[in-house]
Amino acid sequence: AQQGNRRKDERSRSAFEEAKQYIPGGVNSPVRAFKSVGLTPIYAQRGEGSKIYDIDGNVFIDYVGSWGPLIMGHAHPEVVEALRETALKGTSFGAPTLLETEMAKLVCERVPSIDIVRMVNSGTEATMSAIRLARGVTGRSKILKFEGSYHGHADSLLIKAGSGVATLGLPDSPGVPEGVALNTITVPYNDLQSVRLAFERFGEEIAGVIVEPVAGNMGVVPPAAGFLEGLRSVTTEYGSLLIFDEVMTGFRVGLHCAQGRFGVTPDLTCLGKVIGGGLPVGAYGGRRDLMEQIAPTGPIYQAGTLSGNPLAMAAGYTTLKLLTPEVYDRLEMLSARLQAGFEKNAAEAGVAVTINRVGSMVCPFFSAVPVTNYDIAKESNLDQFRRYFAAMIDQGVSVAPSQYEGMFVSGVHTEQDIEDTIEANRKALQSL
Ligand code: PMP
Repeated sequence: AQQGNRRKDERSRSAFEEAKQYIPGGVNSPVRAFKSVGLTPIYAQRGEGSKIYDIDGNVFIDYVGSWGPLIMGHAHPEVVEALRETALKGTSFGAPTLLETEMAKLVCERVPSIDIVRMVNSGTEATMSAIRLARGVTGRSKILKFEGSYHGHADSLLIKAGSGVATLGLPDSPGVPEGVALNTITVPYNDLQSVRLAFERFGEEIAGVIVEPVAGNMGVVPPAAGFLEGLRSVTTEYGSLLIFDEVMTGFRVGLHCAQGRFGVTPDLTCLGKVIGGGLPVGAYGGRRDLMEQIAPTGPIYQAGTLSGNPLAMAAGYTTLKLLTPEVYDRLEMLSARLQAGFEKNAAEAGVAVTINRVGSMVCPFFSAVPVTNYDIAKESNLDQFRRYFAAMIDQGVSVAPSQYEGMFVSGVHTEQDIEDTIEANRKALQSL
């Protein structure tokens, strides 16, 4: 970077070397290793509000937000207090608790498609379970997903996946049996014509379509006008289920999630990230008649020792309660300002940048053309991205180390944070 290497990383470097001896690649989730950007990962020491403090003494304005969950920032005092009070009473029972019903009620009230909801421990579990349910109730095997979408690492969903798979440039994963892969149909995002062709060919075999209602794992790609509506009608026509993977968008793009924002109601919805308030949580829910096909009311099995865990429910419930309409207005205002600032900077620097944004999901693509699907996202200038990323890190702004991930603005970013970030972006773009 041209910014004069402000970041100190000696301690992070040796911490990473040691970790690599005991943890594959030194990390418990691949993108954390900063491999594609060729830098040392940031070893977080603590977080507070919009900031992360690392073990080398650097401070970063954080737009990763634990990859989405921290919509109210790090160590929010009310979340921490709820965790403390809950932990004092015991951390897990394997018996139902009142908090689980409170949480479920709130989710059912806020998410249009959800009559009834089951808690799990990650987004991966949510999508994996929703797919099993779709197959179980329809008696069909095939699933349709979109290229560059990421729905967690369950076998049938690791085909043409985005997120870390895209960042590392990996092919479809070894370890996924061919028989499983054959049951996953992939088509380009925002391409209804291809969806219709797939249904004409395999319609009677397709259990469900799983879609990120705003794609967030190939950068940020909004749904084209009519795309979600088209998926709704084609799935209904063929008796196939429409599954919204709102693990990233759920409570991120609005109080009623992406389905509220776009006015399209799926049969099943997967949640994660924000609903856990920074603890490991996922959930899937939807129409009562479908959801009651899972055990113990129905025959489709799914379970979890720690599902509905009291700490996770406490953090999630408190976070959801903090999310008022005013918070979403503020997220919109701050994110729009960030976008406008970045666009102005790019024009002044003469760098081709296209910014996609839905609410507080913001993604500057190093692309001269509008980015509407994965093939176009992949044409972005990754060398420019790498240099941009290094320059942002050096100036104390933490964004995801990948062109295929967006920035998450939180309700606790200050106007000053936004101004500082726009200034860092200006210098970073000038340095390219
Ligand atoms: N679905 C989407 C849309 C996601 O963005 C992610 C994670 N980034 C997942 C599913 C998987 O969630 P988890 O990492 O909690 O398993």
